[in-house]
Amino acid sequence: MSVLRADCPLCGAGAPAPFLRRDGVPVHQNLPLSDSASARRATRGVLAMTACTACGFVFNRAFDPALLHYGPGYDNAQAGSPRFAAHLNDLARHLVERRDVRGARIVEIGCGNGDFLRRLVTWPGADNTGIGFDPAYRGPASDCDGRLRFVADLYRGEPADVVICRHVIEHIANPRALLATLGPARAFFETPDVAWILRNTVAWDFFYEHCSLFCADSLGFAFARAGFAVRAISRVFDGQYLWLEGEPGTAAAAPRPGRIPALARRYGAAEPAAAAGWRQRLAALARDGKVAVWGAGAKGVTLAALADPQGSAIDCLVDVNPAKQGRFVPGTGHPIVAPAALAARGVRHVVMTNPAYRAEIAAMLPACGGPALARWAA
Ligand SMILES: [Zn+2]
Repeated sequence: MSVLRADCPLCGAGAPAPFLRRDGVPVHQNLPLSDSASARRATRGVLAMTACTACGFVFNRAFDPALLHYGPGYDNAQAGSPRFAAHLNDLARHLVERRDVRGARIVEIGCGNGDFLRRLVTWPGADNTGIGFDPAYRGPASDCDGRLRFVADLYRGEPADVVICRHVIEHIANPRALLATLGPARAFFETPDVAWILRNTVAWDFFYEHCSLFCADSLGFAFARAGFAVRAISRVFDGQYLWLEGEPGTAAAAPRPGRIPALARRYGAAEPAAAAGWRQRLAALARDGKVAVWGAGAKGVTLAALADPQGSAIDCLVDVNPAKQGRFVPGTGHPIVAPAALAARGVRHVVMTNPAYRAEIAAMLPACGGPALARWAA
């Protein structure tokens, strides 16, 4: 039995009925388990995604933060992908060369393995120092002669010239509380654009870890309300993510729902037919031979749960991150294998969940026994 919160965490308006409900979803997407049986026993929760009709914020009304643990074992590293590594490099170049992030004390909230912060600290001539916070961080506490430091714990405020926070705020049930801890600093935030997810009916982009999803309007509203002047909100990574740039200041903070409530209603009506469509396509592929899903990140894990909850139609998930290989998908218990293992398993079809990675996946398939690539646009 889950409790539905009554109001919008961002603007306080009364919450309407959810546009999407899924019961018994695994709460972790990026916490692979060491054996299939314990993976199937993974903690589950309820997804009750709701679009605020006052401010356009999208949130899980049934979210229970006590079910999630972002400690050791949580692994969402994506830099093994050339496409994603290029994205990180482009962002670092943008910050240093266009936004003049130089000689700055940079704090990164949710730094993961520290890859992005390291780029900003070691960027030639930038002369930055960095402190990264992440409870899942593993590695040395200090690097680059002390100019780069890591704290394997939650961020609770830290003096900074620049605060970076990428792919974290969507995991926070109370984003206003996070923004209130920032203090006077330039802020750069990256988070999925829920308008893109809704418009493209990307069912595997709704999962338990992402309890708070923004559009450009609701993200700008959240920052304005927290005492930031928003300088820019742009769309990056083929339009999938929002990139916000703010600085201390005052700005009008009026909630605007925009098209989100209508898009959410349309999504809720369209998802059942879309889901039936991919189950049929999966069954058709599986009749022809073994099927693998590329990527054991949140999207691939969620697709597996939606399309093959019993673990019978999909042979495995494949991931370039060595820390995930040999482990099992939370919820469904599918094995996670290295690309090099696909040939020996006799996999004939690879399904991808994000077209942004099409070129690099296609380039790796000949060495994987040459399975065919199936793109699943919704
Ligand atoms: Zn709201």
